[in-house]
Amino acid sequence: MSGAGSGAPGRRARPEWDVYFMDIAHVVKTRSNCSRRNVAAVIVKDRRIISTGYNGAPRGVRNCDEGGCPRCASSAPSGSGLMDCICSHAEENAITQAAYHGISTKDASIYVTLSPCLMCAKMIVNAGIREVVYDEEYSVTEQTRSLLAEAGVRLRRLVGYRRPHLVRDGDGGDGGACGCNG
Ligand SMILES: [Zn+2]
Ligand SMILES: [Zn+2]
Repeated sequence: MSGAGSGAPGRRARPEWDVYFMDIAHVVKTRSNCSRRNVAAVIVKDRRIISTGYNGAPRGVRNCDEGGCPRCASSAPSGSGLMDCICSHAEENAITQAAYHGISTKDASIYVTLSPCLMCAKMIVNAGIREVVYDEEYSVTEQTRSLLAEAGVRLRRLVGYRRPHLVRDGDGGDGGACGCNG
């Protein structure tokens, strides 16, 4: 039965905007082709999605999980050999996809399943994005944090967020840090 004062029968609770966009980011993440880590980003302006991106090999290049990126296929420890990695990051792909279609990212927000690295933070600043909302925290954040703060870009973690149940454990491939899926 519908709850008190909820109007028409069968009407269900709608998610908050933050949850809605982060849920979509987690679905976008399932398209990632990086064998190392799966991450996605959704760029939002005036509560509308203007671009999405997931990490992986650049357009027209063999996918990372098909051997396209020697670094990702190697045993290089997490965070090392990044200059030899051909995989584009999710934020990078979301921003460049907006550029590809001629859409301004000025004053937008970006929802990311993992907090941004320093390179992406620089790109976010120069793309005119004003806010970063993230789910999981990447290990290297202090320099990124202060860069974004100095540039006036708001950074906030979506506290208490639970991933959508349609994104199963194992679909993420991002280290399994989150065990919240039922
Ligand atoms: Zn990769
Ligand atoms: Zn990055």
